[in-house]
Amino acid sequence: MGFDSRATPAEIVRIGHPALRHGTRMVAQELFGTPALDELIDVMRATLAGKGVGLAAPQIAVPLRVFVIEDSEDRMSHLSPEQRSERYRSPYPFEAIVNPTWHATSARTAIEQEGCLSIPGFRADVPRYWAIEVDGYRPDGERKRWSLEGWPARIFQHEIDHLDGWLLTDRMLPRTLASTEPHGVGAPSGLLGRLGLSEP
Ligand code: ZN
Repeated sequence: MGFDSRATPAEIVRIGHPALRHGTRMVAQELFGTPALDELIDVMRATLAGKGVGLAAPQIAVPLRVFVIEDSEDRMSHLSPEQRSERYRSPYPFEAIVNPTWHATSARTAIEQEGCLSIPGFRADVPRYWAIEVDGYRPDGERKRWSLEGWPARIFQHEIDHLDGWLLTDRMLPRTLASTEPHGVGAPSGLLGRLGLSEP
């Protein structure tokens, strides 16, 4: 499948949109390998480009079991080499996954910060299984199995959650929800002192 770089990005729907909660249908056998499915994937790829590491069809209000993933050197430039290897984070070439099912292959979990393109401006710590196995299809209908650990396993779990109507806010440690914007300074300078409180 060649990427049609002329595909127009879609508008990503945000938390509160019913498409993110209503779940998805399996992609029917007849749709594999068709221009319509390729078009959906091209649009999803164009929508994801430069914005994140994964996008699921419900995020563009398409109720089908499809997601795309792409993690690049650019997107991990804020992490040190140690952090990258701790998280098993390394570039993941673009891939589209259709009709996935998954299971954890160990009881081990890990907590990392996640964001979501449908919840812009926030991030939170989310526990996920460390190692999973996924069965599914490529858009041309070929069956594929993925054995994943660390960060790619996290992205797959986040995206498959979208297909089932779950968002990271359903999985997060609630007290870790944080704005990605500057947090603000609060009271005017000096007021805390006049109130007999120590300045931060
Ligand atoms: Zn998301």
